[in-house]
Amino acid sequence: MDIKELKGIGDKTAKLFEKLNVYTVKDLVELYPRDYDIFEKPLLVRELDEVDDKKIIAIEGIIAKGAELYSTPRYKIVSCVLRDLENQTIKCTWFNMPFLKGSLKQGMRYVMRGHLTRKAGAYVLEQPDMYTMMQYSEKMGNMQPIYPLTKGLSNKTVVKAVKQALEKYNVGLEMEFLPNFVREQFQLAEHNFAVTSIHFPAEMESYKQARKRLAFEEFFLFVLAIRRLKETNAKRANTHVIENDSRTDAFIAHLPFQLTDAQLRAWEEVKQDMRGAGLMSRLIQGDVGSGKTILSVLALMNTAFAGYQAAMMVPTEVLAKQQYESICEMFDKQNVPLKVSLLMGSMTAAAKRKEYEKIKSGEVDLIIGTHALIQEKVEYHSLALVITDEQHRFGVNQRKTFAQKGEEPHVLVMSATPIPRTLAIIVYGDLDISIIDQMPADRLPIKNCVVDETYRPKAYRFIEHQIREGRQAYIICPMVEESETIDAENVVDYTAQLKKELPSDIHIEYLHGKMKGTEKNEIMERFATHQTDILVSTTVIEVGVNVPNATVMMIENADRFGLAQLHQLRGRVGRGKYQSYCIFSSSIKNKKTKERLEILNKSNDGFYVAREDLKLRGPGDFFGTRQSGDMEFKVGDIFTDAKVLKDAADAANAIMEQDPELELPQHIRLSEKVEQYALQSLDKINL
Ligand code: ADP
Ligand code: MG
Repeated sequence: MDIKELKGIGDKTAKLFEKLNVYTVKDLVELYPRDYDIFEKPLLVRELDEVDDKKIIAIEGIIAKGAELYSTPRYKIVSCVLRDLENQTIKCTWFNMPFLKGSLKQGMRYVMRGHLTRKAGAYVLEQPDMYTMMQYSEKMGNMQPIYPLTKGLSNKTVVKAVKQALEKYNVGLEMEFLPNFVREQFQLAEHNFAVTSIHFPAEMESYKQARKRLAFEEFFLFVLAIRRLKETNAKRANTHVIENDSRTDAFIAHLPFQLTDAQLRAWEEVKQDMRGAGLMSRLIQGDVGSGKTILSVLALMNTAFAGYQAAMMVPTEVLAKQQYESICEMFDKQNVPLKVSLLMGSMTAAAKRKEYEKIKSGEVDLIIGTHALIQEKVEYHSLALVITDEQHRFGVNQRKTFAQKGEEPHVLVMSATPIPRTLAIIVYGDLDISIIDQMPADRLPIKNCVVDETYRPKAYRFIEHQIREGRQAYIICPMVEESETIDAENVVDYTAQLKKELPSDIHIEYLHGKMKGTEKNEIMERFATHQTDILVSTTVIEVGVNVPNATVMMIENADRFGLAQLHQLRGRVGRGKYQSYCIFSSSIKNKKTKERLEILNKSNDGFYVAREDLKLRGPGDFFGTRQSGDMEFKVGDIFTDAKVLKDAADAANAIMEQDPELELPQHIRLSEKVEQYALQSLDKINL
């Protein structure tokens, strides 16, 4: 059912909904609130340090000084001072509501509820609504949904539309599909209650019940869908038996470094898989910088030496180019006679056609590339191994499509997502797992610091010094260009400013995701070959980029990123033998932000970071800063909802044991749901 069939939604509003990926009424019902407006107990001024900026809060107090009215060129501002129950004060301001002045009299008692901001170190409550204590206590506990919005689309419009969808059309409401014993064992609310209550919870408890049920349901369908994938994989016999090649051993012996024990263990497992009875489907999990690439290279080599083709898919062109070049360089150095091809979307049609031909004829042995590798036009000659690097950037189905390009190829995936083994076994249910839990021996731990913007001049001197020593630096800004609504550094202006601050012989360039593919590649290339000293970038460089000569990573507005993302960014340095440094810069002073950044300051271990992050966010945290687009289920979070995930996996296993094909009459609805999930949702989850 098209969303335009709802009352009050015409072409214009429908277009706005499209920006949120909402096309049908069902999409709308699955657009869950990102937060709720809750009338919470009023706070005291001294409690505000704990509160995030811009959050809506309420304070009860007495107007200490009658209202003042003043004008700026753009606004008329009314302000008054509220004294709380402990005699601490806070300023309240209203824009363009001059008529309020008369009604704000000294001595009056109100609950003021508005956005908390910090101006010049003092708290201000902006645009508050006023209530008497009586009015306020009636509203206390009430939860109103706040939806993800886009410019021009109001929360009210979404609320009305969702209400209609649920009440008038029963969209999203359907017969219960979870078996009774599962609902009883794990104490799960009923499906329809959950769908209704996630939008309009009667109180906190119903919200919690609703969320738990929806998270469980999603994990449960996911695990069942993945399990069925595995069943199909398991039956596949190894049609490409690949023995270890002595030339690969020689290559290892002549590398400029020794493989770590952890790398060697993983390599043994890969070799065994490839010559084993069944096809390989293996995940290699290792923290950033643990040396996963070299293992890919070895697997690619063995496959090619056995006379087959092998391909590796990576998430960005920058990374594809880099992997391609580093492989070619290694092969050059050791005279490895294998032919490597690079395939990327931004190449000209003619260049692509040339590569397609070489791939089809079997003239090339190894193919490195982006999503371009799974385009229909690519036909492989004898593909026996597919590798996905930085797996967390790909959906499960992309991985599948890639595997289908070959005739029953071996599958190897690389991931840096620091997820505990017990969880990994569940979410990567269709894969065997090797873990690289050790860093190369020559690494010095990265030195970290957390600073505010007053530190900038010092940081620049430090970076300059590193550059004079022959090193390079990254500086990360959250934004591409200046924005009216978001107050954060942007790469364009930042670079211009930085050029003024540093001597002109230091080469600075910037990079961001809005640039053309070829342009990005060239900039990255110049940085990799040290024609550039400092690269100012958005998070486009987050994934996999390897420039061991870079020793400083400075991250501006660090509070704007998730911890997992910050850890990935930090992983761009400390990749060589030089001492490396990471500077997290943030001007946000509240306690939560400090605590979060302190976690990174204390440790370079991705598992530790993930674990501590989890403690801070707490289970069932629907709203907090989520991980950076990885592992994102619609409702559940594999870290904070680990318990629900495990329960869902247990339940799924119990069902599979009893009825592996989901054929029993009581599983008919469930079977349909799993099918539907595998088709529609599985691909949206990047693992
Ligand atoms: P990641 O696991 O993040 O993909 P890479 O494979 O890019 O890490 O490796 C990071 C750097 O470490 C590369 O420059 C690589 O050549 C180097 N490296 C890999 N293994 C070792 C090792 N055993 N000893 C020293 N350096 C290594
Ligand atoms: Mg890598």
